[in-house]
Amino acid sequence: MALLRVALTGCHLPSTYCRLRLLLPRQMGTTTRQSSDTISRLRESGLLKTQGLIGGKWVDSYDGKTIKVENPATGELLANVPFMGKKETEDAISSAYSTFNSWSKLSASERGKRLRKWYELLLAHKDDLALLITLEQGKPLKEALGEVAYGASFIEFFAEEAKRVYCDIIPTTQNDRRLLVIKQPVGVVGAITPWNFPLGMIARKAGPALACGCTLVVKPSEYTPLTALAAAELALQAGIPPGALNVVLGNASEIGDALLESTQVRKITFTGSTAVGKKLMAGSANTVKKVSLELGGNAPCIVFDDADIDVAVKGTLAAKFRNSGQTCVCANRILVQEGIYDKFAKAFSESVQKLQVGNGLEEGVVQGPLINETAVEKVERLVKDATSKGANIVLGGKRHSLGMTFYEPTVIGNANNEMLVCREEIFGPVASLLRFKTEEEAISIANDTNAGLAAYLFTQSIPRSWRVSEALEYGLVGINEGLISTEVAPFGGVKQSGLGREGSKYGIDEYLEIKYVCFGNI
Ligand code: NAP
Repeated sequence: MALLRVALTGCHLPSTYCRLRLLLPRQMGTTTRQSSDTISRLRESGLLKTQGLIGGKWVDSYDGKTIKVENPATGELLANVPFMGKKETEDAISSAYSTFNSWSKLSASERGKRLRKWYELLLAHKDDLALLITLEQGKPLKEALGEVAYGASFIEFFAEEAKRVYCDIIPTTQNDRRLLVIKQPVGVVGAITPWNFPLGMIARKAGPALACGCTLVVKPSEYTPLTALAAAELALQAGIPPGALNVVLGNASEIGDALLESTQVRKITFTGSTAVGKKLMAGSANTVKKVSLELGGNAPCIVFDDADIDVAVKGTLAAKFRNSGQTCVCANRILVQEGIYDKFAKAFSESVQKLQVGNGLEEGVVQGPLINETAVEKVERLVKDATSKGANIVLGGKRHSLGMTFYEPTVIGNANNEMLVCREEIFGPVASLLRFKTEEEAISIANDTNAGLAAYLFTQSIPRSWRVSEALEYGLVGINEGLISTEVAPFGGVKQSGLGREGSKYGIDEYLEIKYVCFGNI
């Protein structure tokens, strides 16, 4: 893909390039920056930023290269943004490094006040931020508004948490000594984020990092830079000083390598695919950086015979179809006990059939497009593999008549753990139902994966809730609930779903170093 993009430098494609766009999700060029009609609906036009942010200054890429940002629902060009690389990243790192001293020396309460102001500005501009999210990412406007509230909640939480970075005094082993533990910010943080939550994933990192005194270089996904830039503009307005929060856009591997190679960057925090996460983890070894990774999932959703069927259908629907199935915690395998299988499959499919698909800006739409053609092709491949191995299509199973990157909300019956649809992260609106007999079998199927992010179970039995949630090898477990993420609880995976936690009182530890101080001869 990188080669194709380079080959397209400077080429101008006609506006009716739909099919080509689908094959090549983003094209590079050196075109003049322009914005679309829909984007002009922003209430505050100043939030449409189309340059990177380095040291508090909005800048183009040094060689003038740009990359298009497009609406996945329509193919409409939203903006051209800089396609940056090594040099810009190095300057952003220098800027973060030189700001670290002054930012980390501010009192925790002062940092907290500025974060609180950022939180207030994010909420004050929630409509504009949600519009940007829907336009560049595709999720329905109501969900986008939910993401703004979700992202802002992390800034608010860590604005408060800044004041609670408590240290310890350890009982001494020698009378003439006093032993202290202090916690200090790790330093410059490189934060790389995905497209599926363009604001939420940045807020989960920038909130705790800034709260404890770190500074950041953020690299958002090439698909969703506009939300990140608008949020950064609001951070500046809130008094987060120039250089504390830098945003670079463009060549992912070049930016990633510059962050990894720098000895000034002391921490890498990443949300995205497991494959890229592994590369970043390996690349961090050379300079021995602190690393936290929020990677892909393969969530089991277990519906037991004793479940309340309405609660199970509602919870599974939410866990599966939010963001058209494009979340790391989406139910990827729906395990249904044999006694309730037919009843659940019928009720669930009836609910799925009602999901309205379309452009996320339209009233009533609850399922937007997938992010690009590659995502649709992946879904097609998984569905084909499942049917070739004996699964049946209960509902959907093909591209939506709207075309573009729309796929029909789909239910597949009689799936099993050998099918790719159960082994890979689907990241699309496909629900695969697996039949099981016993609790032990369900746990065994659920744990038979390298992923370990979220799991769900539906049962009315308290003993079973305890037994199963303890046996599941996952970082998050939802019991009779399909949407469980909140700023006050730790979010993160085990096995190959990642390292570390975001949110909650534990989330700030990822950005702190522990220092032991010994007072002797007292
Ligand atoms: P991705 O392809 O791994 O990309 C994530 C970010 O990494 C993007 O900014 C991407 O840049 C960048 N990147 C790609 N190659 C890189 C490299 N060699 N060096 C440095 N950065 C690089 O993932 P995605 O498709 O955007 O996101 C979907 C994945 O994220 C899914 O697997 C999902 O499960 C996971 N996710 C996990 C969580 C969680 O909390 N565990 C939350 C949300 C999503 P470009 O986009 O510019 O290429």
